[in-house]
Amino acid sequence: MSTSIASRLAGLNPRQQQAVRYIDGPCLVLAGAGSGKTSVITTKIAYLVQECGMSARRIAAVTFTNKAAREMKERVGSMLKGKEGHGLTVSTFHTLGLNIIRSELKALGYRPGFSLFDPEDAKALLRDLMNKDAQVDADQINAVQHQISQWKNDLVLPGQALSHAADDDAQYAARVFEAYVRHLKAYNAVDFDDLILLPVVLLRDDPEALARWRRKIHYMLVDEYQDTNISQYLLVKLLMGERSTFTVVGDDDQSIYAWRGARPENLVTLGEDFPRLKVIKLEQNYRSTGTILRAANSLISNNPHVYDKTLWSQMGEGAAIRAVVNRHEEAEAERVASEILTRRIKESAEWRDFAVLYRGNFQARLLELKLQHYQIPYKLSGGTSFFSRNEIKDAMAYLRLLINPADDNAFLRIVNVPRREIGPGTLEKLANYASDRGSSLFAACHELGLEQQLPLRAVERLGRFSHFIDGVRRRMDQGDAIEAIRGMLHEIDYEAWLYQNASAPTIAERRMANVWVLVDQLEKSMNRDPEDTVSTETETDDVEAAISRLVLRDILEQQAEDDDSDRVQLLTMHASKGLEFPHVYLMGLEEALLPHRNAIEAGTVEEERRLAYVGITRARRTLTLTLARQRKTYGELMDCTPSRFLDELGELEWEGRADREDPEKKQARGQDAIAGLRSLLG
Ligand code: ATP
Ligand code: MG
Repeated sequence: MSTSIASRLAGLNPRQQQAVRYIDGPCLVLAGAGSGKTSVITTKIAYLVQECGMSARRIAAVTFTNKAAREMKERVGSMLKGKEGHGLTVSTFHTLGLNIIRSELKALGYRPGFSLFDPEDAKALLRDLMNKDAQVDADQINAVQHQISQWKNDLVLPGQALSHAADDDAQYAARVFEAYVRHLKAYNAVDFDDLILLPVVLLRDDPEALARWRRKIHYMLVDEYQDTNISQYLLVKLLMGERSTFTVVGDDDQSIYAWRGARPENLVTLGEDFPRLKVIKLEQNYRSTGTILRAANSLISNNPHVYDKTLWSQMGEGAAIRAVVNRHEEAEAERVASEILTRRIKESAEWRDFAVLYRGNFQARLLELKLQHYQIPYKLSGGTSFFSRNEIKDAMAYLRLLINPADDNAFLRIVNVPRREIGPGTLEKLANYASDRGSSLFAACHELGLEQQLPLRAVERLGRFSHFIDGVRRRMDQGDAIEAIRGMLHEIDYEAWLYQNASAPTIAERRMANVWVLVDQLEKSMNRDPEDTVSTETETDDVEAAISRLVLRDILEQQAEDDDSDRVQLLTMHASKGLEFPHVYLMGLEEALLPHRNAIEAGTVEEERRLAYVGITRARRTLTLTLARQRKTYGELMDCTPSRFLDELGELEWEGRADREDPEKKQARGQDAIAGLRSLLG
């Protein structure tokens, strides 16, 4: 056995070793938080390559979030040497699906250069379709969008949806579903859920495609298996088939995506579908102190359980868990920020050792202001992501139109940005004309018949625009695609447009810089560093692939900033899954916030409890829970009730409850903060 893998294995406990070495059949590792499930996956990849001689190309490891995939990639990267990791897939489920779609375009009936619609694009399409019959409001559109997503996650196609529709509403939604699917196809576009659905349908119905992919992937590993939906489960099942060579790891107590179609019962289904399934349970937690673990176990024991798990830790008792009550939400944010500032110095910690978790992104706003005030570097995951900025959306629309001229949403976003005097009246006539002829807006710009519908000046303007885009496309095809894109941005003078529209020149400058960051990202993603042996994608990369990956990244809510920098992490509990931090702050432990109001009303508090369990088990050494006595809700200051979860955690060290805090202690803390600040400011 090679020494590196031998020493890796020796670092694992006997059950983990068993899970790594078991390669004869399907394997499920079922265990609580921090018990080393992800460690089993990463070590097993190295084991398969270094010990079993399997080519890394034949291995696919999948998980749910970009962050988790990146972490896994890093862990594996440190174990594999040189070319060993070449061609290995470590990605999100959706990226794997995107890769399958890209290489199976023909079999799927798509043309090259397809678009990936983000949820906003999809909504725009639904709005158009639904408004054809009658004026509908945003709630109705959202409801249908959610329903369609559920159907897709459950592998229900339009025909089935229609035949099973129980009432008028369901029938209506099913009809919209059918039209939606048809239009997406006409646009040569897929949506987020299609990234799983289309590969599943293809592999199910096309034996040749199935054979191709079974030859390609020989072993699959799935992290966070409890969050798979039916389509994702079928994807794994189809790919692995009879051979059933896979390892999945999960924890039913961490299932937090039921609202997105996740089926924790997939854990049980797995045993039924694969009777030879080997189930391995892990019980030692290597992450958290005894105190934190005890609180987590105590909390989750309030939920019913399919499998009983007992987690123990040898990390020592550690510090008490604090529950800090604040006057209002601003005081809460202030408290968290100033505490991080002082604790960083006192405990000689790094910024990156701290994570602040919350239920919803809106909770981060005040905190951001406070962190900025103290000049604490931080990184916000999700929320106002890089990709939600207007300038990035514009640039992305140009890119999307360049690779897929049938992308009407992209066309509409930028046909008049920068201003080309192409107004809504012209666009409406163009849209009618295009829809009569069943062509895209872009294609319609070229057509001669348009002259009967529109004044000559408008036709000329549209023609100029479409010729311009065609020209850029030609340059992209013939030479350096990135140079062509840079040239295009100069030619349209996007910078001048930003200056015209920004309230201050510095803002325009920053926005333009963002656009260049995007182009750089694109370039990087096309010319992947040859040293980077663990690649998440197939190797042949063109600009189209790079652009669709950017769109996917956008959907998966990732920021384009580098991740290794030393910053405090701000993230939702959902986004924190699989990660760990020495010091964790969990904010807003109040009824209606955690558990969320909707969950209380819908009777799904158990899922909220699992979410709190996920948050708490991210902490390695210290855990601080904060809450506010008053919080602004719908613009009004409302009294808050402490979360029921606080009572379920067992013993906590309270601060500020009913103002009972020892005044001396309070003063000492104030002085600590001042001293900390002084030393920081030199
Ligand atoms: P989660 O459920 O939160 O995803 P997990 O079960 O995937 O957690 P890991 O992230 O793999 O757990 O491991 C938690 C921590 O314990 C990591 O820091 C990991 O390096 C460490 N660890 C895992 N196994 C061992 C072991 N046998 N000995 C020492 N440390 C270990
Ligand atoms: Mg994990």
